[in-house]
Amino acid sequence: MQFIETRGNDGIKPNEVSFSEAILSPSASFGGLYVPKYIPLLGHSYLEGHLFSDYKSLALDYLQWFEIDIEPEVLEVALSRYDGFDDSSNPVPLVKIEEDCYVVELYHGPTRAFKDMALQPFGYILSTLAQQKKENYLIMAATSGDTGPATLETFKNQPNVKVACLYPDGGTSDVQRLQMVTEDADNLKVIGVKGNFDDTQNTLKTLLASEDFKAELQARNIKLSAANSVNFGRIIFQIIYHIHAYIELVREGQIVIGEKVYLIVPSGNFGNALGAYYAKKAGLPIEKILIASNVNNVLTDWILRGVYDLTTRELVQTESPAMDILKSSNVERIMFDKFGAERTKVLMESLENEGKYFLSDKELTMLQEDFDASYADDQFCEMVISQYAKKGYIMDPHTATCFQAYQTLRDKPLKTIVCSTAEWTKFSPSVAKALGENITQDSEALHFISQKYNLTVPSAIEWLFKKPIKHTVVVEKEKIKEEIVKFL
Ligand SMILES: *Cc1c(COP(=O)(O)O)cnc(C)c1O
Repeated sequence: MQFIETRGNDGIKPNEVSFSEAILSPSASFGGLYVPKYIPLLGHSYLEGHLFSDYKSLALDYLQWFEIDIEPEVLEVALSRYDGFDDSSNPVPLVKIEEDCYVVELYHGPTRAFKDMALQPFGYILSTLAQQKKENYLIMAATSGDTGPATLETFKNQPNVKVACLYPDGGTSDVQRLQMVTEDADNLKVIGVKGNFDDTQNTLKTLLASEDFKAELQARNIKLSAANSVNFGRIIFQIIYHIHAYIELVREGQIVIGEKVYLIVPSGNFGNALGAYYAKKAGLPIEKILIASNVNNVLTDWILRGVYDLTTRELVQTESPAMDILKSSNVERIMFDKFGAERTKVLMESLENEGKYFLSDKELTMLQEDFDASYADDQFCEMVISQYAKKGYIMDPHTATCFQAYQTLRDKPLKTIVCSTAEWTKFSPSVAKALGENITQDSEALHFISQKYNLTVPSAIEWLFKKPIKHTVVVEKEKIKEEIVKFL
C-alpha cells in the first residue's frame, strides 16, 4: 500500500510514500496529510472468516490485508502490547446498556483512555523503524490531558525516540497531570507551561516552525515525527476496533452478518470517526456514523450545514476537555476522499487564510451519505451520567455526549454501538458532580464514586497518588526551547 497527499504534490516531496515513510515523517506537501491510495474491501466472507478470531489475530490479519511495509514479526510484538490491557483476549469489551444499544469500551489500557488503542502498538512500531534505520526521533506533544499520558506511556524506554510533552500548568485534571509527571524514563521530558492549552499549543507550533530550533535538532542528528492523529500510523489501529465491535455483536447473536448498525463517535480531532469512515468504506455494514460533539460544535455545523467557520467561535471549556477542539485535523482526510486533492487544498487554505469555508450543496449531500451529527452541553451530559448511574452503569462525560445523538438522530430501528473513549476514573470530579456531589479533588471523587457504586479503581490510577514525582519543571512560554534543548 502506498500513501498519497491530501493537498496534492508539490514536486519536491515524493509522489507516493510507503506506510513506514508516512509515519516517520507525517507532514505532506502544502501542509497536507498522508492517506492510503485506496481502502481494501472487506466482504461478508472476511467478517465470517473472523467470527472466531481473537482481537490480536483480527488486527494482524487486517494490517496485512492493508499491505503495510512492516514485517509480521514486528506487528506481532506491537500487538502484544494489548496483553497488558485488562482482558488480554479482548482489549475492547462490548457492554449492552439498552435493548438496542451497546457501548464499546475503548479505555481498558494503561492510561484509561482510548488513545492507548492506537498509541500502544504505534509506539513500538515507530521505535523499531527508527532503530532499523539507525535514526533518532523527537516526538513533541502539546496536551490538554489525554494524548500526553498515552504518548509518554507508549514510548517510555523505547530506543531511538525521545518525547517532549508540554501541558498547561493547572489546565489538566490531577490524574492527567500525575500520569505525566510521574513517568520515570530518561527518554521522556514533561514540561508544565504557564498559560492555557491554546498558549501551550501555539508555543509548540512556533517552536516547530523556528529555523533556530531545526538547526539545534540537525546539529544533534535528530528528526521530528508526530504522535497525534495527523499520523496515519495511529489511524490504521482505529479502523480495527470498529470492525471488531461489529463482529462481537454478531458473535453474541445480536445481529446477523450484513445487518446495518448505527455507530456513535464522540469526536474532537476526528481520528476515531475517520477510522469508522474507513471501516464503512471497506464494507462494514454501518448505516450512518453519528458524530457527537460538546458545545464546541464545529463538527455539527460542518455535517448539518456544510459550514466550517472559526471566525464566529471561541473555544469553550467543557467537562469533556478532550473534545474541546475547533480545528479538527482529520476532517481534511474525509474531504480528500470525497472531493479530491485540488478541492481539499482550496478548502483548507480558505480555513487557514479566512478562518472559514463552505461546502457546496452537492458536497454536503455527499458528506451526509455517511455522517449525521448532534451536540450536547454539560448539563445534558450530567443528566445522562446520573440516569445511567441509577441503572448501575458509570460513564465518563465524553461518552455521555453520544446520547443526544442516540436519542435524536436514529430514524431506523437498528442496533447502535456507542464508542466510550475514557474511563470514569479519568474525569471523576465531573462524574461526581453529575451524581450530585461537589468534589474538586480527584482522589476524593474516586473514593466517593467507587464506594457508592461498588467499583474498583484500577491500580494504574490508584498508584499515581503514591508514585514519586519525576518532572517538576514549570516555565514561562519563552523558556520552553531552552528546556528542550537541555534535555536533548
Ligand atoms: C481524544 C479523545 C476524544 C476525541 O477523539 P478524536 O479521535 O480526536 O476525535 C474523545 N474522548 C476522549 C476521552 C479522548 O481522549
